[in-house]
Amino acid sequence: MLLGLEYGAMKLSYAEQIDLARSWLKEATSIVVLTGAGISAESGVPTFRGKEGLWNSYSPEELANPDAFQRDPKLVWEWYDWRRGLVAKTEPNPAHEALARMESRIDSFALITQNVDGLHDRAGSKNVMKLHGDLWWVRCLSCGRVSENREVPLRHLPPKCDCGGLLRPDIVWFGEALALEVMDAAWSRASEADVFLVIGTSALVQPAASLPFRAKEHGARVIEVNIEQTVITPYADISLIGKASDLLPQLMM
Ligand code: NAD
Ligand code: ZN
Repeated sequence: MLLGLEYGAMKLSYAEQIDLARSWLKEATSIVVLTGAGISAESGVPTFRGKEGLWNSYSPEELANPDAFQRDPKLVWEWYDWRRGLVAKTEPNPAHEALARMESRIDSFALITQNVDGLHDRAGSKNVMKLHGDLWWVRCLSCGRVSENREVPLRHLPPKCDCGGLLRPDIVWFGEALALEVMDAAWSRASEADVFLVIGTSALVQPAASLPFRAKEHGARVIEVNIEQTVITPYADISLIGKASDLLPQLMM
């Protein structure tokens, strides 16, 4: 559990690191948070690195990409239908809830997520910057209309738009570019942060993975929360190894 932090001349215990992180968050005038699949793991949403049960024989990279969709939209939609069904049964956990409280207490707060599950919204977060889209939004390949779709399970696979066009999940797939305005906004918020909190991400998916480094270059203190070390750990000012749902409420006390 103990990751030694050399802070000044002292080596801090795990409890002292939590205290220090809490005081940084309390003093900060601008907080930016980046979340990944790990924050929703305890709600029961599987991460991509974990076991995916029924769909174990496919990697997410094989299904969440435009070529796969062009080849076999029904197969890709079956996978999304399964994931939507799983997520529909889950609830936000204390980590999502702590972040919603944090937003209500500080003026300059940005929550950037790589998750598509909508659990931050359900926990009460108001302004969620969704880098990778949303499981509950669909986009028409013919007319371009984006709309919400919460039907679980979907009655027609693949689903169609009112115009007759094929709908796709409004999600950024492997090999696709992120929406420029969302990434630009995330990038500039990261540059202005006093404290950058990175939670439950393996930081292997770019460009999201660069955000904590950007924040650090611009003077932010970086606090990481993860059940294991990641590529961010050596750069983090404090790296707390533990579950997001245990640690976030402690950081908010
Ligand atoms: P990832 O699956 O690559 O990594 C998950 C990280 O969370 C790991 O570093 C793991 O150690 C950590 N983790 C697991 N349980 C945790 C816990 N209880 N507390 C704290 N940390 C925990 O996820 P990623 O970095 O978000 O990247 C994967 C991509 O997959 C993203 O683009 C995302 O859009 C997508 N994805 C989203 C969801 C979702 O919406 N919930 C789920 C799976 C994948
Ligand atoms: Zn249409």
